[in-house]
Amino acid sequence: MKLILLGPPGAGKGTQSQIIAEKHGIPQLSTGDMLRAAVKAGTPVGLKAKEIMAAGGLVSDEIVVGIIADRISEPDCARGFILDGFPRTLPQAAALDALLTSKSLKLDRVVELKVDDTILVSRIETRAKETLAAGGTVRADDNADALKTRLMAYYRETSPLTGYYFAHGLLKTVDGMAPIADVTRQIDGVLGEVQNA
Ligand code: ADP
Repeated sequence: MKLILLGPPGAGKGTQSQIIAEKHGIPQLSTGDMLRAAVKAGTPVGLKAKEIMAAGGLVSDEIVVGIIADRISEPDCARGFILDGFPRTLPQAAALDALLTSKSLKLDRVVELKVDDTILVSRIETRAKETLAAGGTVRADDNADALKTRLMAYYRETSPLTGYYFAHGLLKTVDGMAPIADVTRQIDGVLGEVQNA
C-alpha cells in the first residue's frame, strides 16, 4: 500500500498517518518530522532547513526529494508507506513519480483531507497549548506569523497537487472536519477499495 496524505497544515495528516501506519504495519514517512530531526541533530540538511522551517517557508525540492529517495529505499518500505507532507510541490510530485517508476512501483491512492480554513488557526493554537501543558516544546512554526506563511505556501505550491493526482485517477477526498475516528473510517473505506481492486 503506497499512499499520500494531502492537506493544509493542521488538517490532521500526521494524526491520521500514524493511525493508518500502525493498522497496516507500514511506515509513516513525514518529511516534517525528518527535517525537524535533522534540525535537532544539527546535520548539514538541518542547518539549511532550520530558518526556512521556523518562518513557515518550504525547504528546497532538492533536499526533500533526496531525503525521501533515501528513505523509501530502506527495507521497512518494501510493503509500502504513507507519505505525510511530501510531495508539497509539483516538481516534488514529478520527482516522486520518477523515483517510483525507477523501482517499478506505483502509488495506490492520494487522500486529500478537506477542512475549512477557519479551523486551521485554532487547531494549531490548540496543538501549541497542549504541547506546552504536557511540558513539551512548541514547534518553532506553530505561531500566527509562520502559520500564515505555511498556508500561503500550501495554496500556492501544494494545492495544485490535487488537480495533478485527480488527473492521474488517484485522488480521493475525505471530510477532515469530522471527528478523528470518523476520518480514519473514511480513509479505511478508501483503502478497502484499493485492497479489493
Ligand atoms: P505542517 O503541519 O505545516 O503540514 P510539517 O510538519 O509537514 O508541517 O512540515 C513542517 C515544515 O517542514 C514545513 O513548513 C516546511 O518548512 C518543511 N517541509 C516539510 N515537508 C516539506 C516538503 N515536502 N517540501 C518542502 N518543505 C517541507
